[in-house]
Amino acid sequence: MRSLNEKCAVVGIFDHPQASTLAYFSLHAQQHRGQEAAGISSGNGKKLFTIKDRGLVTQVFDNQKLATLQGSMAIGHTRYSTAGDDSILDAQPVFARYDLGEMAIVHNGNLTNAKEVRDALIKKGAIFQSYMDTENLIHLIAKSDQEQLTDRIIDAVRKIEGAYSLVFLSRTKMFAMRDAHGFRPLSLGRVGDGYVVASETCAFDLIGAEYIREVEPGELLIFETGKAPQSIKVFEPTPKHCIFEYVYFARPDSNVYGQNVYQMRHAMGRKLALEKPVEADMVVPVPDGGIPAAIGYAQQSGIPFEMAIMRNHYIGRTFIEPTQEMRDLKVKMKLSPIKNMIQGKRLIVIDDSIVRGTTSRQIVRMLKAAGATEVHMRISSPPTTDPCFYGVDTPDKEKLIAANMTNAEICAFIEADSLGYLSNNGLLESVNGKEENYCTACFTGKYII
Ligand code: AMP
Repeated sequence: MRSLNEKCAVVGIFDHPQASTLAYFSLHAQQHRGQEAAGISSGNGKKLFTIKDRGLVTQVFDNQKLATLQGSMAIGHTRYSTAGDDSILDAQPVFARYDLGEMAIVHNGNLTNAKEVRDALIKKGAIFQSYMDTENLIHLIAKSDQEQLTDRIIDAVRKIEGAYSLVFLSRTKMFAMRDAHGFRPLSLGRVGDGYVVASETCAFDLIGAEYIREVEPGELLIFETGKAPQSIKVFEPTPKHCIFEYVYFARPDSNVYGQNVYQMRHAMGRKLALEKPVEADMVVPVPDGGIPAAIGYAQQSGIPFEMAIMRNHYIGRTFIEPTQEMRDLKVKMKLSPIKNMIQGKRLIVIDDSIVRGTTSRQIVRMLKAAGATEVHMRISSPPTTDPCFYGVDTPDKEKLIAANMTNAEICAFIEADSLGYLSNNGLLESVNGKEENYCTACFTGKYII
């Protein structure tokens, strides 16, 4: 089964007169987590309303549509999926009617036992509309023999494994749940007299919400009108936060797992300069991902920072193109060097990661063609050697260049003069973390589930 809930953003707004509008703005702030589809479900105490479609948040919604999303609670989702499938059925929220009424769910993460659960449900006669593992939850909740929805949700999450930050809406309540490892982020805040939960705190800043705390790993929060959120510890927390959120995925102005993402990336850059120094004339980031680390590298090394590669912001992320030719072209469409800055210069180029090697090779070629005399590639994370099964879109191991080549071979492939990655320890130190609290599987192959 394809898993399509990767790298998404979720939001929930509870007890606020402009719930769907705030959900809209929260999704807009988190657009970087998924550009393929967007959706919001709202509830007015009697009925749930859902609008979802392919496209960016601003393309899916307008004032008229938001006006139809009535009520003081709303949940929302932006979806990022691998290429080749853009069915509207795979957009979220997932909405369903069942014996207790109506429910809607949004999900960030990947369920690792999704296929087993789905096969068992299908054997018992369940009918699925989409390929999303999130639909499993709807069935598990609907089929649970518990009477209360809260107990049914607990029943359902006990049957699933993997990474999930979930927000549910019933006709009168909102629920937020994070898996025991807290793989994907989820924060709780206060907005007006109500509450907000969101993948990233950059959403809180936009809607004027006040950060309270993270939803704890293994915690279920229940929101009821006029009450403080009720917390149920469904699982003992065993944190294994996705470290790649710090490396690449989250927005620098967000706080994730209680720490600011920009500061983490800056520290990675400083550490990289200590671990992998090289003589050069300037430090150049691959925008936008490489910028904070490049500033850190430049400050630590004393080598000037220059924005010598420009980025065209009207291009989506290059990762999603299905063929290699398209990926090559898209890198050129997205990034272009400032020739006058780099002619005759030795460059240290900083990017957050190398996946297939396409981007790095194109960049080195572009910079050399523009007159750079040396290009030293420095990566502010360890080699990406293993795919992610918990919600980040990485290709299979055979396509991961660092899984199949040595450092020297990768350096030759990307045609750089030297190549240096941040060490795994260096990364952990940069994020003030211990290995036991983070999932580093994409860099170490140490899978938790
Ligand atoms: P590649 O060309 O395959 O080596 O991809 C490397 C580029 O993709 C880097 O510039 C990264 O910032 C970016 N990147 C890394 N991981 C991801 C991901 N999961 N989704 C989209 N882009 C990514």
